[in-house]
Amino acid sequence: MLTNNTEELVHGIQNGKYKSAIITTHHKPDGDAMGSSLGLYHFLKKFVSHVQVVTPTDYAENLFWLPGNSTVLDWEKDQTQGEELLKNADLIFCLDFNRLSRINYMGEVVRQTSAQKVMIDHHLEPEEFSDFTYWNPTASSTCELVYRWIEHYFGSCEVSKEVATCLYTGLMTDTGNFQHNNTKPDTLRLAADLMELGAEHHNIHSNIYDTFSVMRSKLFGYCLYEKMEIIPECRTALIYLNAEELKRFEVRTGDTEGLVNFGLGIKNIVLSVLIIDRTERVKMSFRSKGDFAVNEFAGKYFHGGGHKNASGGQSEDSLENTVALFKEKIQLYKDQLQQVK
Ligand code: 5GP
Ligand code: MN
Repeated sequence: MLTNNTEELVHGIQNGKYKSAIITTHHKPDGDAMGSSLGLYHFLKKFVSHVQVVTPTDYAENLFWLPGNSTVLDWEKDQTQGEELLKNADLIFCLDFNRLSRINYMGEVVRQTSAQKVMIDHHLEPEEFSDFTYWNPTASSTCELVYRWIEHYFGSCEVSKEVATCLYTGLMTDTGNFQHNNTKPDTLRLAADLMELGAEHHNIHSNIYDTFSVMRSKLFGYCLYEKMEIIPECRTALIYLNAEELKRFEVRTGDTEGLVNFGLGIKNIVLSVLIIDRTERVKMSFRSKGDFAVNEFAGKYFHGGGHKNASGGQSEDSLENTVALFKEKIQLYKDQLQQVK
């Protein structure tokens, strides 16, 4: 746990020092990114006269129901307004990421503003760019950290139904519905607290998971039936998709989320990889079991990182070359992967 200058920040918020706060989060925000951003947005509105969430890109439609979603600005859709907002902000919250490169072009604009920067995050190896930091890599999610921060410095009475709904969403999605090993007794207690504060867990679950398109289900079927490769000596499952396949299945932002998890559902598989040709770059998702630190692997070969068992990476090379490089490098870890319990 790393915190710095948090008391000073809280004091400033309580005393009306800040007039305009921007909340931003990582490229292609997921449930934790949008849940923590909008959760903080609803909380902060009471203390700061202008609060605005700005995302560096678009995000999946199954997050559009989140309270406050209609107020979000997508930087890629309106960069001029995005720049204007950042320029006039005196406080910028950076949630669910800890390197400015994770917000693309926005990163350097954020770095150069005179606004005070706050990082609230749970990923490993933070970059030092923030004036205020609330960072804990053992936290289940950024939503959990936002809750702890509000609870500790302002009291849980400040957590409205909207805040609880947003925060529950990220807690649920980042723990894989309370399945992954980042789920601790305190995580479940927090879920219970958020329910008592108004989060309707069955509605949230259904909004997130029961709203996909027919084509998205067909894509999953196709990937599992026709595309999944098993590399048995490395206990690895691999799926890769080219641009033509994305077109054929009308893939939209968020449609491939969760696909990589299926590999780990197979007995004896301890590493699952999804590689997608997103045209501007090849994007990779890694999930592992036990002590195989997939963030180190992603960092070493694919300019990536994340958590020990859930990471991402990318490549500027072609899909074919990226897949070939992955297949080559994973062989170096054959013995280690055989040992994973
Ligand atoms: P996903 O596979 O769901 O896109 O990402 C899994 C985890 O890895 C998330 O926590 C995400 O923040 C992180 N991640 C994904 N892509 C990258 C990347 O390119 N660089 C870094 N440092 N982390 C990533
Ligand atoms: Mn997260």
